[in-house]
Amino acid sequence: MIPRFKPDLGWPEFSALFRRKRGAVACFEQDFAAEMGQKHAISFPYGRTGLLLLLEALGLKDRAVICPAYTCVVVAHAIVLSGNRPVFVDSQASDCNMDLELAERAIGPETGALIATSIFGHPVDLDRLGELSARNPGVIVIQDCAHSFSAEWRGRPVQQAGKAAIFGLNISKIATSIFGGMVTTDDDALAAMLRQLRDRRQSRAPWSKSVRRAAYLLASIAAFSPHVYGTVRWLERRGLLDRFSRYFDEALIDMPADALVAMSSVEARVGSAQIAKYRTMIEARRRWAAYYRDSLADLPGLRFPQPGQGATWSHVAALTPHRDALLAHTQARGVQLGTIIDYNIPEMSAYRASQNPEEFWPVAARLARTAINLPISGSFCERRARRVVDALRAAVRTL
Ligand SMILES: *Cc1c(COP(=O)(O)O)cnc(C)c1O
Repeated sequence: MIPRFKPDLGWPEFSALFRRKRGAVACFEQDFAAEMGQKHAISFPYGRTGLLLLLEALGLKDRAVICPAYTCVVVAHAIVLSGNRPVFVDSQASDCNMDLELAERAIGPETGALIATSIFGHPVDLDRLGELSARNPGVIVIQDCAHSFSAEWRGRPVQQAGKAAIFGLNISKIATSIFGGMVTTDDDALAAMLRQLRDRRQSRAPWSKSVRRAAYLLASIAAFSPHVYGTVRWLERRGLLDRFSRYFDEALIDMPADALVAMSSVEARVGSAQIAKYRTMIEARRRWAAYYRDSLADLPGLRFPQPGQGATWSHVAALTPHRDALLAHTQARGVQLGTIIDYNIPEMSAYRASQNPEEFWPVAARLARTAINLPISGSFCERRARRVVDALRAAVRTL
């Protein structure tokens, strides 16, 4: 079975588990800041914790925060839990990112911040974002780089185009520190304030957290090996892994119980190992994304979004009205397609009631129903990419 995503874990990460090191978290923060070309990187137990405390450090309270309707739901949760109100804006069909024209129209006197997301690693249009910012200097721009890391718009890294950027580092992201998140910024005062706030609010990672995270990583390395992955799928289909794979409850706005327990040393060591090979992983992703898009360009019933040049491809997304049929047919041929983000946040029960019933998010709603993602990883190979292409072609013939 070719899994829908695969973390790039090997000897460097495995050996990092056993290489105890003082100040590993501070080291990882420095490595991360250097790779992202930013002055400061501040680590958190999750990306959403980073966003929550960032909004607080920015002094935002009882304000409107603009974000995409089509993004990871934990972003909306962090906005609500910080004491602010999410304002959802529809996506644009071209690259699946938030439509910045609609975003600008949604700005009002209450607006405190705008979260620009480079979804799937498709870079957000920094030219248009810059114009929006110039016209609305009171609106703080936060980059959500959980999918994109260092995606570039005309050569400019997206994470640098705003007050701060947030990153998620769980096992499904481009680079992982097992769990964990980062906030980067060039603003010295903001960095100092955020660090202070974090250190006041989060508790130290107990020794047992490193052990549990190391065990999780070892289990992941095993689970993603080709022999075991079929078994994992079997468990998943029977709902036995729901506790691990379903990361949200549609009706609840909450955070994990350990959302304020510091990043563990073992996570930081794995994170540094990943950052060391970050460039290589991205090059590979770019190669396989181009391969898929070239090989499947003519396939009827499948359309690829058209992101800007500097995408980093956390996901190779495609849109199809035949999603369920394609998923079932390719699954039977040993290829697992993903349905990353199969919801439109303002339609979820936790958010529906707070939205204006006159408002619509037609593009986001369509993406939620039609987006699939093709298997990719930084350590992919031609044989596997070929198998995915063949399985998709065969699946389309059966429609
Ligand atoms: C993963 C992700 C985050 C942060 O997720 P955590 O699980 O809290 O680390 C934020 N935004 C997007 C778009 C994501 O995919």
